[in-house]
Parts: sequence; structure tokens; C-alpha cells
Amino acid sequence: MRVLYAINETREFIALARGGGKSIGLVPTMGCFHEGHLSLMRRAREENDLLVVSIFVNPIQFGLGEDFREYPRDLERDARMAQEVGIDLIFNPSVEEIYPEEYRTYVEVERLSAGLCGASRPGHFRGVATVVLKLFNIVQPDRAYFGRKDYQQLKIIERMAKDLDLPVEIVGAPTVREPDGLAMSSRNTYLSPEERKAALVLNRSLEHAQQLLDEGITSGEELRRRVEKFIGREPLARIDHVAVVHPETLDCLAEVEDEAVLALAVRIGGTRLIDNVLLAR
Ligand code: AMP
Repeated sequence: MRVLYAINETREFIALARGGGKSIGLVPTMGCFHEGHLSLMRRAREENDLLVVSIFVNPIQFGLGEDFREYPRDLERDARMAQEVGIDLIFNPSVEEIYPEEYRTYVEVERLSAGLCGASRPGHFRGVATVVLKLFNIVQPDRAYFGRKDYQQLKIIERMAKDLDLPVEIVGAPTVREPDGLAMSSRNTYLSPEERKAALVLNRSLEHAQQLLDEGITSGEELRRRVEKFIGREPLARIDHVAVVHPETLDCLAEVEDEAVLALAVRIGGTRLIDNVLLAR
């Protein structure tokens, strides 16, 4: 396994593999690996000849006062875990390598970026789309893998790939959870033991919503209200958003016809966590 920091070296390494007719898979990450990342890598390992994982904590997707500086970084540990999965290349550029001083170009995916996390994190998805397009241009993968845990992000990347005719297949993979149901996230490391217990309110509220739907509550507004009430019973939780949306357009749904995505962002103490579930009638 190689670890490369420079764009030109990475291009050369990949050009060699491509010349040999190999298919290329890319898993973009911000590092601090957990089982969620590893599941994407294992899937990508099976489906491609050459597997590239990028590790880059992307400053332009963090807002003022967010955790860019504190975001956990541990390349040594990540490299050990990646080696076990059989990754060929870790691309770990510096901020200056990706955004030199004269950098001026950004990608905006309209509408899909406006609601949910886009509403409380202005500019977040512009930062995500920009860096992902840059990574696609550097690595030129045949397939790129994203977790459904970040559902809005997945839909935005799918849209960008279609709209800009990018020659890459976007693969969405299921959310990996801790045994008690909490969605795995690098930000879970911020939680105190007490907060870790309180964080279960996210996944439990998703289960609660499916039960409500099973009981015949199909109004999007009513589901949202009941889920907010459920989360409100946890004293350490502060709701950022609860939304019942169309799985593709991400528009809020008045009525759940067959399927809907329930998306949550909840602060537990100082930590903002997200989760979502596909609700089905
Ligand atoms: P991150 O390092 O948090 O930017 O995540 C890198 C990739 O891993 C993204 O595509 C995420 O959606 C995905 N991911 C993060 N957490 C999970 C999880 N618990 N299950 C599945 N995929 C995940």
C-alpha cells in the first residue's frame, strides 16, 4: 500500500494502473476510520482492481465555529486499518495541495443542497461537491462509494455526477451501526459516556417513526411532530432538524405515499449528529 500526498504523483500512480486496464474504485473520506468507512472499502475492494482511499479534512465544508481544527486525525491508525482491507493507495493531500492560494472555483448543486443540513450549515455542500469533483478529476475512478448515513450528501453527489456527465458510477452503501444502534461516526469520539447514552435517541426515534407509520400515521407533519416530541424527552438532546422528505427530491412530504426518508440532525451536548432511515409503508 502506498500513501501519496501530491496530486501529480497520484495521477502517475493511477495512470500506470489504468494503462494496465485496471478498474479503479475510490472511497473519499475525512479519515479517523471506523467500521462504516471499512464497509465501504471492503465493498469497493471486491468491485475494483485498484482501490484508492482519500483522506482529506476539507476546510471549505466546515462553517465558522465548526470543528475543522478539532476534527480527529490519525493517519498511522488509518493506514494500519486500510492495509488490512487491502487498499492500494491512500491519497492524503495537504490543504495547500487541494486549494492553492489562487484557488477560485466552486461547485453548487442547487435545490438539493438548500434544505436539511444545507439550511443549518450554509456552504457545507458547496464545499463537499467541490472537493468530491476535484477528487474525481484527480483519481478518475470507475466507481465511487458513499455511505447512506450522509443521505443528503449521497443524493447531491449522484445529482452532480449526472448533471456534469461524470464518467463514474456512484455507489451508495448502508449505514453501519454500533451494536446498540447508534450510527457510526468519527464525531462519536466527542461524546462523554453520558452523552453517548443520550445519543441513542437518534436511532430510537427513527425506529419509533417506522412504528408510527405502521400504525397508520402517514402525515409527514404528524410524523415530524411526534418524532420531535420523542427526541424532546431526552434532556441532553437539542433538535437541529427533523424532516420527512421524498427520497430523491428531498422535498418535504405532506403525506407518505409509499416511501420517505426521515432525516435527523440533533445536538447532543456540543456534538451535532445526523441519522436517517428509509420509511416504507
Ligand atoms: P467521513 O469520513 O465522515 O466524511 O465519511 C466518509 C464516507 O463514509 C462517507 O461516504 C460517509 O457517508 C461514509 N460513512 C460515514 N459513517 C458511516 C456509517 N456509519 N455507515 C456507512 N457509511 C458511513
